[in-house]
Amino acid sequence: MAGGFRPWWLAEALAREPADGRSPPLSGDTRADLAIVGGGFTGLWTAILAKQARPELDVVLVEADICGAGASGRNGGCVLTWTTKFMTLCRLYGEAEAVRLARASEQAILDIEAFIDAHGIECDWRRDGTLYTATSNAQLGASDAVMGELGRRGISTWTRLPDDEVRRRAGSRAHLEGWFSPLAATVQPALLARGLRRVALGLGVRIHEHTSMHGLGRGTPMTIATSGGTITADRVVLALNAWMAGLFAELRRSIAIVSSDMVITEPAPAALKATGLDGGISVLDSRTFVHYYRSTPDGRLMLGKGGNTFAYGGRMHPVFDAPSPYRLPLAATVVRFMPGLAPTRIAASWNGPSDRSVTGLPFFGALAGRPNVWYGFGYSGNGVGPTRMGGQLLADLALGRDTAWTRSPLARGPRGQFPPEPIRYLGSLLVRDAIRRTEADADAGRVPRRWDAALARFAAAAGKADKA
Ligand SMILES: Cc1cc2nc3c(=O)[nH]c(=O)nc-3n(C[C@H](O)[C@H](O)[C@H](O)COP(=O)(O)OP(=O)(O)OC[C@H]3O[C@@H](n4cnc5c(N)ncnc54)[C@H](O)[C@@H]3O)c2cc1C
Repeated sequence: MAGGFRPWWLAEALAREPADGRSPPLSGDTRADLAIVGGGFTGLWTAILAKQARPELDVVLVEADICGAGASGRNGGCVLTWTTKFMTLCRLYGEAEAVRLARASEQAILDIEAFIDAHGIECDWRRDGTLYTATSNAQLGASDAVMGELGRRGISTWTRLPDDEVRRRAGSRAHLEGWFSPLAATVQPALLARGLRRVALGLGVRIHEHTSMHGLGRGTPMTIATSGGTITADRVVLALNAWMAGLFAELRRSIAIVSSDMVITEPAPAALKATGLDGGISVLDSRTFVHYYRSTPDGRLMLGKGGNTFAYGGRMHPVFDAPSPYRLPLAATVVRFMPGLAPTRIAASWNGPSDRSVTGLPFFGALAGRPNVWYGFGYSGNGVGPTRMGGQLLADLALGRDTAWTRSPLARGPRGQFPPEPIRYLGSLLVRDAIRRTEADADAGRVPRRWDAALARFAAAAGKADKA
């Protein structure tokens, strides 16, 4: 990230830190037992969990910008489970592992909460649940099958609410039906990322911000070339999210990089309270590129939507580090959902790169020919909770442990590839535009054209995109 533009949450978090609170860039050569590249949730959880398990381990973490500058400090802060992906999990990994992962994704939320409490991280964490809704007839029943499967196994935390109750809790007449689970939270994500950084430092992790990896050697120990010097390490974890695809050709086709765009209003606590939206609940509709929104404790509404900007060939698009080009349509959606907020100004907009995998789930593994270099990415817009699991899996791999995480099929690399460029890019735009047209038709009560509906099914076949 360029470091000039700061998305809303990160700017708010940095304003609460002392100006000299950044970690110094690496200067010269160093050695470590474990080197972690990338200072988002994945890298920070890996560092923390490895260090908690083995306090004597010398761990160094380098981050190209500052910790939280990537997706972790700019996401919607909706902390969700994988229970809504249960059928995909069953199809890919079998029922026993699917149940384990669904349950682990719930436990991850409780673990994050316990960690925040134990370490006094002030990040506006509120575990008030989530609502998955339908905002057009085409979305009706979208969640019924998965909720049925969870219910039949006795592992569901979800309740189908009366339609009026859905509209009341969501603060909007736009919702036609909905399912509620209390096991979800909202958080100010940059405050969480910066808080994890503080705890990692306290545990003795050496962090160098403004230190970019330029090259990675082979053999053991490995040498990482960075902007500030070299790191020699026995084990390396790459926690680079969407940046992985641009750096390692073998993984280039394993994700598509796609934006999620966001707006946040000025504080309007009275108008927001009048809608009925209360506390830290998150609300998501069921379109392919979902709308998602939540409030903040100071009475703002944040609304986001995925699937707008695609990056060509795994390269970062400059627009990912700027105000959202979709600010106006997002502001219009705020008013469509909550007409009472019409007079409320939009305080800021931003967007960021999401790492959309073919399955909609992240994957982990070792780089080809480098058995001591592990990676993990592909969270596909649902990473705030799941990066806690990813950090555990990567820490276990790096510590050479035999656990349910290191044995999990999640740890066997990508489960599918996108087509090569330019087909991936052009195909993504074709499908995106077809989805836009089918969703506009559905919103207006029109029947979508057959060709558009067929194209839109490509994305649906790959699994719901969460907030990507
Ligand atoms: C706009 C947006 C909204 C989202 N909303 C939600 C949501 O509401 N709920 C949810 O669950 N998920 C959401 N997500 C997804 C979630 O934010 C991510 O899955 C999660 O933050 C990924 O964490 P990470 O640590 O893997 O990646 P990141 O936080 O992106 O960390 C990767 C880090 O690597 C650094 N880096 C890159 N290249 C180098 C290099 N060469 N050397 C050193 N460092 C480097 C980057 O600067 C970055 O800090 C959203 C994502 C986006 C983009």
